[in-house]
This record gives sequence, C-alpha cells and structure tokens, in this order.
Amino acid sequence: MLRFRSLGSGSTGNGTLIESTRNGRTTRLLVDCGFSLRELTRRLAPAGLTPSMLDAVFITHEHSDHVGCALQLGRRHGVPVWASLGTWQAMDRKPAPLRAVGAELVRHVALDGVPIELGGLQVTPFGVPHDAAEPLQLRCTDGVARLGVLTDLGEPTEAVMGHLSDCHALLLECNHDAQMLADGPYPFFLKRRVGGVRGHLANTQSATILDRCRHTGLRHVVAAHLSQQNNTPELAAAALSGVLGCSATEIIVADALQGSPWLDAG
Ligand SMILES: [Zn+2]
Ligand SMILES: [Zn+2]
Repeated sequence: MLRFRSLGSGSTGNGTLIESTRNGRTTRLLVDCGFSLRELTRRLAPAGLTPSMLDAVFITHEHSDHVGCALQLGRRHGVPVWASLGTWQAMDRKPAPLRAVGAELVRHVALDGVPIELGGLQVTPFGVPHDAAEPLQLRCTDGVARLGVLTDLGEPTEAVMGHLSDCHALLLECNHDAQMLADGPYPFFLKRRVGGVRGHLANTQSATILDRCRHTGLRHVVAAHLSQQNNTPELAAAALSGVLGCSATEIIVADALQGSPWLDAG
C-alpha cells in the first residue's frame, strides 16, 4: 500500500510524508522538511509518528521552506538526507554546514530521472525549472501505485508532465491566481520572480499540467503550496476541478498548518 499525507504546505513550510507497506515492512519518506524540529514533531504526532520513525528525508531544493530542520533531523535521529549535489552545495553556503549532519548521512541523488531505492519505495527525482541551484521534484511507487509530488516550479514542461502522466495521486502546486498576484501587495520584482518561468505555478498552469496528466486511474489530486496573499483555496480547487469535471469539494487543498489527511494512492 502506498499512502501520503501533507504535513503542511505553503511559503511558511512544506513537508509530505509518504509511506509504503509491503510484505509487512513499512518505509517512511519525508519529502521536504520546512519546519523546526519541534514543529515537525508536533505535526507528525497526529499520524502516530515521531521523527526517529522516518527512514529518509528528501530535500527538493535549498529554499528555507523546504530545508527547515533536515540537518538536525539527520544528526539527532540518524535519518539519511537525500538531495541533489547542487542543493547540498547551496545548503553548505548557509549557516548550517554539511558537517552538521555527518557525512555518513549525506545522500546524493545521482542523476535526473535515475530511480533510487528506499526500502519498499522507488523514488524517481526529476529536474524542474525553479530559481534554485539544482531543484528536483519526484514521483515514487511501491511497485503498484504511483504518486507524483510537484510543489515548486515556474512553468509546465514536457519533461515534467512526462514524469507525472501515469500517477494515481498527484500533489500539485497551485501557488497563485495570476490576477491576484498582479493586483496584490508584492513589490514589482517579487511579482516578476513568482510569476516567472523559474518561479511558481499559477492556477491555470497547474490546470494545464493536470489536464495532460489525468487518466482514469487518477484517484486523488491535492492542491499544494498556495500563496496566502495571492490565492484562495476556492480558486485553486475550482481551477483543478474544472479540468476533471468534478465538484471543487473533491479537490483536497493542503493547508499551511494542518496539511491533509492520509490519502491512499492505490
Ligand atoms: Zn522554492
Ligand atoms: Zn517552496
């Protein structure tokens, strides 16, 4: 069984818990860790988990809403930390250096599109256009069900959509409504960055990705990484439900504080 649960999503912190259970063995992967260790502990508790019960953490890129306590998690609880070489190098330029985690827990993702095996999970990272050193997003499978995680990218690309086209569940960035961003309070440079090709997805772009990736086996769509200033859960859900022809209430919107409930990918 493959199931997942957002621990919270947005510019204040992102984390997605993925769990596979096969032949009595459970593997737990945390994708991004944009919280303090105390806050992560608090958010894991409703799932009946503690940080030491995680098998690995995968950092998609070095932005603070994704790294958070990852290095502490490694050091204190012995959880291996996976990231691209570019992300590791970018993190190393920041106040928490690599030595904080311990070399034995550092794991490099070898290449874009090359799968890595984490217990009962196979994870395939892929590169995305985003304003970070070597940003990745991923798809993963327990051998039966497939889940795509896509929280930070500036525009849909053929390569990205190819990686997500047969997933049974998608956690998909719906960062902003283009009109709200244009009319909103951000300074001009920030509007350009967020709306640019290496920034974040507008709801309409998320809808384009979903339209390309939808198929009859798609069970769950979760809207994620919503901007609190430039989007609303209703607008994001409407954009995605419009593609699927379903009720907006069938789209789950990951809350910044509450995340989402457990969802079965297959
Ligand atoms: Zn980012
Ligand atoms: Zn982010």
